[in-house]
Amino acid sequence: MKSKEIRAKFLDFFKSKEHSIVPSAPIVIKNDPTLMFTNAGMNQFKEYFLGNAKPKTTRIADTQKCLRVSGKHNDLEEVGKDTYHHTMFEMLGNWSIGDYFKKEAINWAWEFLTAELKIDKNNLYVTVFEGDQTDKLSKDEEAYEIWKKIIDEDRILLGNKKDNFWEMGDQGPCGPASEIHVDIRSEEEKAKVPGKDLVNQDHPQVVEIWNLVFIQYNRMANGSLKELPAKHIDTGMGFERLAMVMQGKQSNYDTDVFQPLISEIEIITGVNYGKNEQTDIAIRVIADHVRAVSFAIADGQLPSNNGAGYVIRRILRRAIRYGFTFLNKKEAFIHQLVAVLATQMGEAFPELKKQKNLCENVIKEEEKSFLRTLDQGLSLLDNIIASAKGNEISGRKAFELYDTYGFPIDLTALILSEKNYTLDLKAFEEELEKQKNRSRLAAQTETEDWVVLQEDEEEEFVGYDYLEAQVKITQYRKL
Ligand code: ATP
Ligand code: MG
Ligand code: MG
Ligand code: MG
Repeated sequence: MKSKEIRAKFLDFFKSKEHSIVPSAPIVIKNDPTLMFTNAGMNQFKEYFLGNAKPKTTRIADTQKCLRVSGKHNDLEEVGKDTYHHTMFEMLGNWSIGDYFKKEAINWAWEFLTAELKIDKNNLYVTVFEGDQTDKLSKDEEAYEIWKKIIDEDRILLGNKKDNFWEMGDQGPCGPASEIHVDIRSEEEKAKVPGKDLVNQDHPQVVEIWNLVFIQYNRMANGSLKELPAKHIDTGMGFERLAMVMQGKQSNYDTDVFQPLISEIEIITGVNYGKNEQTDIAIRVIADHVRAVSFAIADGQLPSNNGAGYVIRRILRRAIRYGFTFLNKKEAFIHQLVAVLATQMGEAFPELKKQKNLCENVIKEEEKSFLRTLDQGLSLLDNIIASAKGNEISGRKAFELYDTYGFPIDLTALILSEKNYTLDLKAFEEELEKQKNRSRLAAQTETEDWVVLQEDEEEEFVGYDYLEAQVKITQYRKL
């Protein structure tokens, strides 16, 4: 079944259950200081759950473009390495705003997967909230009893607060969740380890596909829970993961959602997918990131040096780096993938078609400028290494590369570790601190690409970039 058909089936199914089908909200959030990007289907309905607004209809369904690269949900580091986390993905969802509750939500999810899509029940597992002492909550018996009527009890697993209790924040609506997981391993593998032992264990072939949240409490300022007068349903299902299941693949990247992009990358770079783990990771990273960046640009978020724009710039630069380092592609090429994406997804998301030229131009300019930086930085780094006395590169030199040439510190650390050199990180930190003080003193406004930076924003830029670098350096040290 083509992914297009899967999406349509989902929406038609919930339409037949009297849901209004609404468009996806933009992936970029402009009016909420607590969130830069849409990271779940429910974001656009937040005010309904908080009781601050009333919806036109109490049953809603859609497919929502999501981005999980910052804040509470940050999957960026997984992307490329695993087969089922993306930066940008579609979340299929259905909602009840004070309308139906657990019985319908569970039964419809089951009906959709097993009757409509005909997924084998023997491959499915479900989880139920086990309860929590601090919150004085017992097991979600209500959900358990409903599941018991439709699935064998040994396929119902209990899950803790981390996986099976959803909260919007420190305060506000929250509640237990039931998740549906699918085991796509071969029969041979299944015989070795029971699927139920692998649920929620980050196994690439026993994956969570659908999360059903039962919003029934309100977390008060003092931390206690109060039963909500009107109860809500909030569900989210990973579209690309569902496509993997339906298309009998072992990886989201092998579905028709990603294959056109991967084929194009193969043609452009001359590197074939499926031959080598390192180049495969690079290809997956690029196929994933071009989607994130294009969707963000199409919704009006250009790469820049602060805030959401900087997150987009970082994602794009990560893709460029992978292409440059592992696919040996030294010229700009990622922008060429936009056309493929627009053809493939333009029907479901017309903004991609409409903004195709903008996406291409912006990505191309970013690529060109960052490739120049990489090129310069690499030869400078070679010189530094050649003139080094021992095996450690001074923090001052690394800082110079970072500060004067814009060469990312995490890349310096990566290259050095590949060549068995280390970096005097403490000295780098001291130089960075000195520079921060300098920039605090010099209250200048600087024009950089598309945005005019204010002094405080420039500081934010330094901190942000550096924080990411610190995390990465720690990781490289572990390797
Ligand atoms: P996981 O445990 O796999 O990270 P999650 O519990 O964080 O998923 P939810 O917040 O419950 O995910 O989101 C609802 C659904 O969206 C998930 O069941 C999954 O199918 C899908 N999903 C979540 N994160 C991603 C991602 N990074 N890429 C693709 N699909 C995702
Ligand atoms: Mg997650
Ligand atoms: Mg999960
Ligand atoms: Mg979940």
